[in-house]
Amino acid sequence: MSSPRVLFVCHTGSVSGAELVLIDLVRPWAGQSAFLFEDGPLHQSLAACGLNVEISRWGDGLNNVRRDSSFTKVVPVIGAMCGLIAEVARFARKHDVVYANSQKAFVLSAIAAKLMRRPLIWHLHDIISPAHFGKMQRRVQVLLANHCTVNVVVPSKAASDAFIAEGGRKELVAIVPNGLDISPETQTSAELRRELKLPQGPLIGVFSRLAEWKGQHIVLQALAKTPAVSCIIAGSALFGEEAYERRLRQMVGDLGIADRVYFLGQRNDVPRLMRAVDAIIHPSIDPEPFGRTLVEAMLAEVPVIATDAGAASDILEGGMAGTLVPPGDSDALAQAIGKAISRSPELAEQINHAARRARSHYGVAQMLDLTSRLIRQAAGDPA
Ligand code: UDP
Repeated sequence: MSSPRVLFVCHTGSVSGAELVLIDLVRPWAGQSAFLFEDGPLHQSLAACGLNVEISRWGDGLNNVRRDSSFTKVVPVIGAMCGLIAEVARFARKHDVVYANSQKAFVLSAIAAKLMRRPLIWHLHDIISPAHFGKMQRRVQVLLANHCTVNVVVPSKAASDAFIAEGGRKELVAIVPNGLDISPETQTSAELRRELKLPQGPLIGVFSRLAEWKGQHIVLQALAKTPAVSCIIAGSALFGEEAYERRLRQMVGDLGIADRVYFLGQRNDVPRLMRAVDAIIHPSIDPEPFGRTLVEAMLAEVPVIATDAGAASDILEGGMAGTLVPPGDSDALAQAIGKAISRSPELAEQINHAARRARSHYGVAQMLDLTSRLIRQAAGDPA
């Protein structure tokens, strides 16, 4: 059978973790298509991979729908949703398989794919739980997944467990850990700090979009308890979390730590920044479906401290490849930061182990192999 025609559907044009995964995932599918609900940097990245990218005429209307939106907030955008479904259906008809890369993309693609009788794969990058989604959204997602998909791809057992606990059919689930391809950074921390104009002395880093559940405020509370330590915060409020960003900036003033906290905004040199710091913090207060940042930190060969929620424990091998602290506990985090910047010999062994684990478990080749197989199977090619 010739290569199946695949339509990748994504609701956003911004690039956060799920979209970085998609950019890697489409590598074997040059010449195929992507449909985005809105324009943004993702458009150029997918086009650079050889995809034909189409942008919706209706997608802007969906921006008002947040993950926890109630039904009443959803009603006014129903017109835009119908327009989008019609657009996805029109493109789906020209393809053998539809691959939805986000929750919003999935919900609309499910209806479009059903109408056009096309197999649908949902790449579920989220934990379906009350912490992340309203009750109505959880019900609709699981109902559509059970009736309209041939596979639900999830990045971790934590994401799989959450989907099944909400009533998702177990036999649909395929666990495909996110894969990363990052060449080791050869420059030393001291060289990088000079080049990147970062402060001297103990320095930690946080590398996530700014969102309350990502927990940057807990790091600020911990910094108030670790007087000698500075912190870089890379990332921006990508999905309407500007109020949280303002709160963080206010907090550094209120806590008297403004001279030790550096907000760097959205960066495209995360591996270099990671290599420059003494420890990397992944402070999410709600369960993480995966956390690319964790694997990047392991590859940077820098101590990593993560909250024990969702997939973090699996990725860090229950604490063998990094330090786990309870979510939302700034005292425990402050203590862990103190240990991490001490650079003890046990820590050096943990760092080496983490880097080996990241390379052996979380490579791009394995992710491409598994997803490509699922796409071919969906298209009716048993190979
Ligand atoms: N990231 C980035 N620039 C920044 C902050 C973060 O490129 O300034 C990247 C980070 O390196 C990681 C991704 O954004 O690859 C975040 O992925 P993760 O799975 O940790 O979280 P998500 O945003 O998907 O919830």
